[in-house]
Amino acid sequence: MKRNEIKIDMDDIQVIFGDDIEYFNSTLNNVYCTNCGGSYDKTIVNYTAYLNNLNDIVLKGECKTCSGKVGRYLETGESKERFPAADHVRIIKKNFKKI
Ligand SMILES: [Zn+2]
Repeated sequence: MKRNEIKIDMDDIQVIFGDDIEYFNSTLNNVYCTNCGGSYDKTIVNYTAYLNNLNDIVLKGECKTCSGKVGRYLETGESKERFPAADHVRIIKKNFKKI
């Protein structure tokens, strides 16, 4: 885990995406695997989600097809609707660490 990445869970992702959670779910099936090649049609499984310092979400997991390492980057930090929610999650997580 990089220094500026905060580990988040499914509840946090739900907060960030809100009604758009379907979009998040669909991105899980649009993953590129260097091992399998081809296009962005692989599924990421057993992933861990992180929020980076740009408030983008980084998923790190395994390719469902070959179990190779894959990642998925979601530019939530670029979204006007999602950025405040992502920022909110970041602040909560940081405060939680201090306790
Ligand atoms: Zn693969």
